[in-house]
Amino acid sequence: MKDLRNSKEHHNYRNELTITGLLLGGMALLYTDIPFHIMIQTFIQHIGSATAAVKQFFVSIFIEPFVQMEFSDFVGILMITISFGLMIVQIRKKMISTSYESHTCPLCDSKLHRIHRNRWQLWLSKALYLSSGYFHCETCDHSSLRFYQKTPHLRQG
Ligand SMILES: [Zn+2]
Repeated sequence: MKDLRNSKEHHNYRNELTITGLLLGGMALLYTDIPFHIMIQTFIQHIGSATAAVKQFFVSIFIEPFVQMEFSDFVGILMITISFGLMIVQIRKKMISTSYESHTCPLCDSKLHRIHRNRWQLWLSKALYLSSGYFHCETCDHSSLRFYQKTPHLRQG
C-alpha cells in the first residue's frame, strides 16, 4: 500500500516537472530570438541539394551513357539485341519440331504417361511462350519434356 502511494506521488511529481519544463521552455522561446525560419530554410535547402545530387547521380548512370554513346555503339547494341531475339526464335522452333511426336517412348516404344512438370520446366515453357508436357515411361524410366505450339483451346501454359 505504501509502495503504491509512493509511485503515485512520484508520478505526480513527474507531471509537475513536465508542466514546469514546458512553461519555462515556452517562455524562454518567447523571450529569445531563435531564428527558426532560418533553420527551416537551411534545412529545406539541404534537402534540395541532396535530392539534386541524387538526381545527378542517376542521370550520370542511366541517361548520360546513352546520350554520349556513339551512333555506331547504338547500332551495335541494336544488332546484338536482334541476334539474341532471332536466336531465341530459332531455339523455340527447334524445340517444337524435335518434340512433335506421338506419346510413345523413343527408347522402348512403350506408352508414355504425362507427369507433373517442376517449377523450372513451367518457367521455361512460359519463357518460350509454348505449351509443354513432361512425359515418363514406366517401362524404362525414360522421361522427357516436350513443347507444343500454344493453342487457344488448350490453355495449360
Ligand atoms: Zn521407355
